[in-house]
Amino acid sequence: APPLDLTDDCGGFASLGPAFFTHLNPTPLPQPYWVGTSGGVADLLGLDAAWLASDEALRVFTGNACPPGSRPLASVYSGHQFGVWAGQLGDGRAILLGETTGGLEVQLKGSGRTPYSRMGDGRAVLRSSIREFLCSEAMHALGIPSSRALCVTGSPAPVHREETETAAVVTRVAQSFIRFGHFEHFAARDMEKELRTLADYVIDRYYPACRTAPQPGGNAYAALLQAVSERTATMVAQWQAVGFCHGVMNTDNMSILGLTIDYGPFQFLDAFVPGHVCNHSDTQGRYAYNRQPNVAYWNLFCLAQALLPLIGDQELAQAALVSYKTVFSTEFMARMRAKLGLVQEGAGDADLIDGILLLLAKNGVDYTIFWRRLSQAVAHNDFEPVRDLFADPAGWDRWELSYSALLALMNKELSADLMLKTNPKFVLRNHLGEQAIRAAKLGDFSELRTLQRLLERPFDEHPGHDAWADFPPDWASSIEISCSS
Ligand code: AMP
Ligand code: MG
Ligand code: MG
Repeated sequence: APPLDLTDDCGGFASLGPAFFTHLNPTPLPQPYWVGTSGGVADLLGLDAAWLASDEALRVFTGNACPPGSRPLASVYSGHQFGVWAGQLGDGRAILLGETTGGLEVQLKGSGRTPYSRMGDGRAVLRSSIREFLCSEAMHALGIPSSRALCVTGSPAPVHREETETAAVVTRVAQSFIRFGHFEHFAARDMEKELRTLADYVIDRYYPACRTAPQPGGNAYAALLQAVSERTATMVAQWQAVGFCHGVMNTDNMSILGLTIDYGPFQFLDAFVPGHVCNHSDTQGRYAYNRQPNVAYWNLFCLAQALLPLIGDQELAQAALVSYKTVFSTEFMARMRAKLGLVQEGAGDADLIDGILLLLAKNGVDYTIFWRRLSQAVAHNDFEPVRDLFADPAGWDRWELSYSALLALMNKELSADLMLKTNPKFVLRNHLGEQAIRAAKLGDFSELRTLQRLLERPFDEHPGHDAWADFPPDWASSIEISCSS
């Protein structure tokens, strides 16, 4: 197999024209080394294992050499950050190497300054690069739409954050990295021609049904808005069900394809605290776990505003957002039913789901452990290990009665099977990432590999690895993850 095979410019993002980006090369980093690679993404890209282990590959994925056919670029976008219009942003430390013949964009993150870096240094630190790498792949393995990560490389080059750290580069992969913010950018500048070019590109390449299927008002742009809104609703429903907090849901971090992108201060919930804020910089709690569905809707409203010149009609634009709420709740309910092993729908499902979430919150129960134990409980007909999780078992006992009554109507094997495939044993808790990062900083990548292997198959038991599925240690609550990365 050839090494990374990128098509020339025709047809890809670069075909949009110079208003959308600046061509530039990554800035090299000294003494590069491998931190981790994903076999799954290597296969997806058809990369030869021997090549991926080569010094040439190491140079490419550190930004020290360009692959053949590549004319790298950084794109410009704008966006709302923490609810406030931020004006022009852009790929301040990401560089698109190009697109594979299979239609996947390959991007380096942390590869040096660009015209959109503003005050930033264009770099990413090892810590946050490991987190993005592990989490992208973990989300994919959980069945949640996400950008992928091929590899992380590191360099001893110093990078100054709160402390001096070292540089790293994540190579990430997606069909497209276009964000809501790309649309907002051209709308804010009244660049209607470019706005239309962008929307047409996204429709033609990723949402062709918006043009071919019958559309509300015959408007393909309204159809695009509705399709994006529904994909976003589905993605956020999956976040909520698995207990994922994104942490920085600014409109420039919202994918037009409904992918989870821009992994920063994200967190998988430990205890179920609905108002949990994972981003230490988010002092207002705008991006708290339980606000994510509303925030996504707010962000879609910004996208609607940006698309308005193309849609041409306020009511049509508003109508395109209406299905967000029904799709979100349908998708969320479907996921929660699966988590409970309810293989058939029933009238009591919603109450049962509300009831257990209330109890989990009241008792501060560990979210992932609860669902996994519940799955095992149904499989082995022993609810005692679940009951042990509740400080107030009386509430649990009442809930369990109605739950068991519902379950009794179903095939127990089917229920248990569904639950064990829906409720992961392993998620990337903060402290697990932290342990892998601490070791990696000392040059030991074994913890990273172990974690990678567990998260690649999060629903498997992985005998001998129960420690990675256990409660977080006390020090986990003192980990502070901020926007600094
Ligand atoms: P984020 O909050 O990570 O989504 O980043 C918001 C904006 O800041 C984006 O335009 C990023 O490209 C840019 N940015 C973040 N960190 C850096 C950095 N170290 N150097 C340059 N630009 C950055
Ligand atoms: Mg971002
Ligand atoms: Mg970021």
